[in-house]
Amino acid sequence: MRLKGIGRYPAGAIACFAYRQEVATVDTNIYRVLHRIFLGLEHPEPRISADQMFTFAEQVLPPGEAYNWNQALMDLGATVCSSANPQCARCPLQENCQAYKDLSQYSLFPDGTVLRQLRKVAEQKTPYETKPFTSTSRYFRGRIVDHLRSLPAHQRAAIADLGPVIKADYSEADQAWLVKLLQGLAKDGLLDFQEDGVRLP
Ligand code: SF4
Repeated sequence: MRLKGIGRYPAGAIACFAYRQEVATVDTNIYRVLHRIFLGLEHPEPRISADQMFTFAEQVLPPGEAYNWNQALMDLGATVCSSANPQCARCPLQENCQAYKDLSQYSLFPDGTVLRQLRKVAEQKTPYETKPFTSTSRYFRGRIVDHLRSLPAHQRAAIADLGPVIKADYSEADQAWLVKLLQGLAKDGLLDFQEDGVRLP
């Protein structure tokens, strides 16, 4: 059953936290923590998309522990394994964390400082970030959401159709850029990204 306005994350959170069901849920904190622990650093490129992470989260869910597991992941992401400044030195998962191993390749003292440098380098690689606001990712993210809002409820926009709508000089060469933008929006819970297109959650 689908309810308007209830996306995959809130649906999983309600099922797990309110009804104690054995389901995975993935918000931005859980995405980041699972990514770092099992797959490594999310910079310069995330290894899997937000959609793929739902499947992955279900695979690593400890049987009978969904409530505690999901709660612990969210808490860890909110307090210790923050986006820009992970406190690896006091993290209880340090020994089992792939991202910590990755960071160890760059510094004897892996922590948020190293990660911030990696993120800065990754962002510098994106030419759209150095141009005027109308060429920034934030601008195009807004245009994507605005366009999806104008569609009838639950209607998907095919990715191939979306490009020319949000960017006047869109070409096939922009497809990877567009997909990355869509993945970012999906990761933030702002849209539902499937192979046949995207729509608001
Ligand atoms: S060791 Fe660092 S990167 Fe890994 S989960 Fe802990 S805080 Fe996050």
